[in-house]
Amino acid sequence: MILEIVKYGHPILRTRGKKVESINDDVKALATDMIETMRSSAGVGLASQQVGKPLQMTVIDVMGADRPWAMEIDGKPVTGEGLMPLVLINPVVTEPQGEQIGGEGCLSFPEIVADIKRADRVRVEATNLKGERFHFYCTGLLARAAQHEVDHLNGILFIDRMDSATKASLSGRLKRLQKETKSKLGVR
Ligand code: ZN
Repeated sequence: MILEIVKYGHPILRTRGKKVESINDDVKALATDMIETMRSSAGVGLASQQVGKPLQMTVIDVMGADRPWAMEIDGKPVTGEGLMPLVLINPVVTEPQGEQIGGEGCLSFPEIVADIKRADRVRVEATNLKGERFHFYCTGLLARAAQHEVDHLNGILFIDRMDSATKASLSGRLKRLQKETKSKLGVR
């Protein structure tokens, strides 16, 4: 089922996700719906907050993306085949290394793309849908997506990572989007 994506201005995007305590049928169904929703919007990642559920859960799929990335498990490079879409439950990003600056967008901010500085390589640890804890190292676009999505789970948005000049140049559009969202919600 394709879910509605929450837009900037909705307070849930600023809500830290609750830890997922058990991988039950609801969690599995939500993961399936999030993957379908991400694909239907041609996104590379989607956090549970973005579909109105403040949990520690995100999905990522960079397989079809036209920007470079790499993934390593137990010291060996892997292609992502059979691993993506990734469902990351209670994920933690650590060991940031290096730096990459590149265009970044967000499904909760339609049509807004801005250069964002991120670590080039990170370690990601998470629980999968089988309830197993696993970890990998990644670079490039996958590292960017992991940092962006795990930020969402903590109520942090990519606009918080923009330099002040970029954010200022987008302020009119951000205000409009926020107003639009709030008027849909019926709040001021
Ligand atoms: Zn996002």
